[in-house]
Amino acid sequence: MQPIKDSGATLTRKAEILDGAAIADQIKQEVARDVQRLMAEHQVKPCLAAVLVGDDPASAVYVKNKIRACEEVGIRSEHYALPATTTAIELLDLIASLNMRGDVDGILIQLPLPGEIDEAKIIEAIDPEKDIDGFHPVTIGRLSMGRPTFVPCTPAGIIELLDRCGIPISGVNACVVGRSQIVGRPVAQLLLQRDATVTICHSRTRDLASVTRQADILVVAIGRPGLIGREHIKPGATVIDVGMNKVTDEAVARKLFGAEAEKRLEIISKRGYTLVGDVNPAEADEVAGKLTPVPGGVGLLTVAMLMRNTVKAARMRRNI
Ligand code: NAP
Repeated sequence: MQPIKDSGATLTRKAEILDGAAIADQIKQEVARDVQRLMAEHQVKPCLAAVLVGDDPASAVYVKNKIRACEEVGIRSEHYALPATTTAIELLDLIASLNMRGDVDGILIQLPLPGEIDEAKIIEAIDPEKDIDGFHPVTIGRLSMGRPTFVPCTPAGIIELLDRCGIPISGVNACVVGRSQIVGRPVAQLLLQRDATVTICHSRTRDLASVTRQADILVVAIGRPGLIGREHIKPGATVIDVGMNKVTDEAVARKLFGAEAEKRLEIISKRGYTLVGDVNPAEADEVAGKLTPVPGGVGLLTVAMLMRNTVKAARMRRNI
């Protein structure tokens, strides 16, 4: 797609907004039907155990949303809220007991963990058969070999979004900015498995914009509010914004949200902050062909895919 020029001035053009909320609803409805089938045909009600350690308010909201999603789709959930003083040994004991229980299909440890607890050790203690977040090294190894396994929820949601919006992956140039274990690396693996030509960028990438501008599909997961601007985006590209950052400053909000700024300023005055991704939405809107919004894009898909992974665990553990 070409930038539109009129009398020398570049006109604002609108990228198509990819509706993550609608797709997340579709996926949850499909999961709910699958849960009903499991109950009718095998008398199995899948169960997710969610473990929250400490009192980080954001983590508490994430866990609450996951528990609510379980209720929506008919998955049984158990919620373990442990104090911030919980030791690694106590947490490992809880994980061991959840691993042993036949009726628990998925174990979710909400990250980050507080204090000195070694997250890697905790994740490695989860039975890979119950690793619905897809963070265990065995799961990651299987994923990188292209073998059937749990796929981490955010990357799985991104592929689902691309597929359901009819965006071709095979043969295109895909660029992933960010190389975290939970988003950047696995989404790059998945795009590669679907035959995209994949480039991974990170904080040491030289001349980031010259690399990202080659991408037909640009996935950004860096945790830097609005860093990706018009100069980073190939005209007409599909831009998937994974970032979730809080903006409290009204001047920053005005710069980021363009025509939508007034609405966002109202949200800041009511709630104290508004959410922005890693992509500058006003600038991306002028250049991208398709764009995920924040909020309402990738975030909701993550929870929907967690529900799907829990049902997958229930089926895989029983071979049904
Ligand atoms: P992370 O672990 O914080 O890692 C950030 C990555 O971005 C690193 O690989 C880092 O490079 C790279 N990076 C940082 N600054 C950069 C820059 N200026 N240019 C290029 N690369 C840069 O990332 P994460 O956990 O994947 O989170 C990323 C964002 O996604 C956050 O906003 C987070 O809240 C959001 N998130 C959203 C969801 C969801 O459900 N929507 C799920 C997970 C995360 P180095 O490796 O070189 O340091």
